[in-house]
Amino acid sequence: MAKISIDIKTGTIKKQKVIVGIDLGTTNSLIAYTKDGHPVAVRAQNNQTIVPSIIHFTEQGEILVGHEAKPYLISSPERTIYSVKRLMGKSYKDIASHSDFFTYKIIDDNTDHLVKVRVGDKFYNPIELSSHILKALKNAAEKELNVEINQAVITVPAYFNDSQRQATKDAGKLAGLEVLRIINEPTAASLAYGIGLNKDEVKTIAVYDLGGGTFDISILRIENGVFEVLSTNGDTYLGGDDLDKALAQYWIGTNNLPYSKVKDDKNFLQSLRLEAEQAKKVLSTEHSYQNTITWGDKSIHCYITRNGFEKIISPIIEKTIQCCKNAVQDAHISIEQIDAVVMVGGSTRVPFVKQTVKQFFNREPYDEINPDEVVALGAAIEADILSGNRKDIILLDVTPLSLGIETLGGLMDVLIPRNTKIPTQASRQYTTSIDGQTNLKISVYQGERELVKDNRKLAEFDLKGIPPMPAGLPKIQINFTLNADGILKVTAKELRSGIQQDIEVKPQYGLTDEQVEQMLLASLQNAQQDMQERQILEAIGEADQILYHTQKFIQKHADLITEQEKENTQKSILHLQDALKTRDKNLIYKAIDELNEVTKPFAERAMDIAIAEALKGKKI
Ligand code: AMP
Repeated sequence: MAKISIDIKTGTIKKQKVIVGIDLGTTNSLIAYTKDGHPVAVRAQNNQTIVPSIIHFTEQGEILVGHEAKPYLISSPERTIYSVKRLMGKSYKDIASHSDFFTYKIIDDNTDHLVKVRVGDKFYNPIELSSHILKALKNAAEKELNVEINQAVITVPAYFNDSQRQATKDAGKLAGLEVLRIINEPTAASLAYGIGLNKDEVKTIAVYDLGGGTFDISILRIENGVFEVLSTNGDTYLGGDDLDKALAQYWIGTNNLPYSKVKDDKNFLQSLRLEAEQAKKVLSTEHSYQNTITWGDKSIHCYITRNGFEKIISPIIEKTIQCCKNAVQDAHISIEQIDAVVMVGGSTRVPFVKQTVKQFFNREPYDEINPDEVVALGAAIEADILSGNRKDIILLDVTPLSLGIETLGGLMDVLIPRNTKIPTQASRQYTTSIDGQTNLKISVYQGERELVKDNRKLAEFDLKGIPPMPAGLPKIQINFTLNADGILKVTAKELRSGIQQDIEVKPQYGLTDEQVEQMLLASLQNAQQDMQERQILEAIGEADQILYHTQKFIQKHADLITEQEKENTQKSILHLQDALKTRDKNLIYKAIDELNEVTKPFAERAMDIAIAEALKGKKI
């Protein structure tokens, strides 16, 4: 994808921008791009594509990432951070039950705030930590491609919630990357195998992902280029590491080692586990493994056959199959309905894993692509689609921007949030804010900002002929219907009188992908400012309503109000009007409260009279 093009106006050579795909994994991370239509993983470190997701902070303030950081896991565990992904978007409370898993210091503030890690006298949140990994990947890709990279697609597990996805996006931003899309890891893996690239294809697939420390199974349904997650299951603390531990345990037994002593010798335990990992890898191609290591003056024989290894790991693999059963059940399908099984994660290289999965799903799994790279390669394909290099493919499964209407004060009221699967429809009731209002202007907008002025207007129309009624009485139902082609139909109906108006708008064709992304980015960058602006406008709206009703009330019930009350009310009205000029929401609300306080006694009197009137003449 790193094409060179010539600007014919200026005669200069332009390097085309590269959008990368990143697999930000628990154990390892990778970065990939597309070259001549084919995804390629960057050899980021030590001529290897995988970069261990490990960060080491040296005493001198240097930050090491990946292979360089790995040795410090043993020599300086309290300054070396691994498995950051497990902390993304989580509070201490969320991970408290697993806190002994981490050898570094996680701050126990027992709150719902985002968890923090302490290294020396500094504190880091998982977003900052992940951004160091992303920066290292970005630098490696820039070096290999010799172009600046500032846009990416990043993958996350299908079960990641909104705050985990947002945290991942923020980490990208912090690393200097505009994250164009966050996509699900199983979706990326499918794309890498070309599944879902054909728009007419309808398929149900299972993605079995057994990594170093986590296991995920996802069932996806692909139709018209739409990837729908039917179910996910798994175990966030089950993976290749457990296979290593089980084999190390077995050797402790065969060598008659006193477990109570071994478990206190952390260095030996670690060497034994590394030996077991080595054996496991060898057994993926050979039929037996043999080596000798030492423990003090003892020789430890590490021997195992593939058959023996399979017996040891069988209960662990069985657990993954139980998860697969649950996932199939939750997806409300039968195993026969699954058209393809995709293997992801380094541990799926173990022949016994392949064989067990094949048996369970009763079909040959897709395993030709390197299982460590498959997710990153799929992310690179998605990046290629986003950069417009695959014009034939539209993966527009969802509406890319929110759709809504303008409400009082210029606020955006979203009816269909972005990322809603299409076709879809939504409706909501509104009312008028002025007495006797017979016309209602309905303005339809698209975008993520809180104020319509920052979004894009798609259409405007008038609902005419509303019978005159007091403010708040008309019931105006607005309905948005978005069909599969992305065409929006808006209907407005006054329910009391039945008058109706409708209009058709085509949102998607009006915007290029770039514009969509720009608007999303702007919404992220401006989110805080927008929220403040929204709060001010809400306060102003509320103040306007109160002023309007109070003045109307005083006119209507002049006989019920004493001169003193009139004077006090007038004073509070002036206060509120002054507060409105400041645009300070706290001052506005304070003045609203003051006015409410002053008007309360005579409002109550009026209410009592109204009730007495209503009861008059009613017989019990
Ligand atoms: P991942 O988290 O997907 O990078 O997976 C890493 C896990 O895959 C680790 O537990 C590795 O020990 C394991 N692994 C890597 N290569 C092999 C192999 N050839 N055979 C078995 N397991 C492997």
